[in-house]
Amino acid sequence: MDQRDIEGDLEKVLLTEEQIQIRLKELAADVERDYADREVLLVGVLKGAIMVMSDFSRSLSRHASMDWMAVSSYGKGTKSSGVVRILKDLDQDITGRHVLIIEDIVDSGLTLSWLVANLMSRGAASVEVLVLLRKPDAAQVDVSVKYVGFDIPNEFVVGYGLDYAERYRNLRVIGTLAPHVYS
Ligand code: IMP
Repeated sequence: MDQRDIEGDLEKVLLTEEQIQIRLKELAADVERDYADREVLLVGVLKGAIMVMSDFSRSLSRHASMDWMAVSSYGKGTKSSGVVRILKDLDQDITGRHVLIIEDIVDSGLTLSWLVANLMSRGAASVEVLVLLRKPDAAQVDVSVKYVGFDIPNEFVVGYGLDYAERYRNLRVIGTLAPHVYS
């Protein structure tokens, strides 16, 4: 769905469909260069990363396998709980694999720093992170994010995989919600 389909729900659009696609192609070029001699395993974090995975992986012009994990994050609210729980684990053994985690957004960084440590402890040869969006607080956390799409302000955003109470994931753009939506 597009902005006009949810008239009044968005306060502002931060990123258009076109801006997102252009940036994902640039990131794909960076990843292809960095993994020129290694096959990468893309690990998407459900459900927020579905759109990033879909468009980023198709921007790659070489083989890349995919797997998925689901971990608990915000639930229905807008603040990170700090408690990470695996809801769905990987389907495969990642020993010796070069893993690239695909995430929608890094905010407090709690989810990602836990995930990187978890995947490293399984014997992956390398674990790097690609996020579409990074909020300012992420800078204070000890998690190295190699590929960043956009730095955004400290606001709650929806669209392109990101939800508020499970809505707006299928919105083509990324934006902030009008205050009335929260009440
Ligand atoms: P962190 O652990 O605080 O970095 O949060 C990571 C997870 O929280 C992300 O994977 C998202 O699912 C969710 N999240 C963080 N910020 C936002 C937002 O602005 N909109 C929607 N979801 C968010």
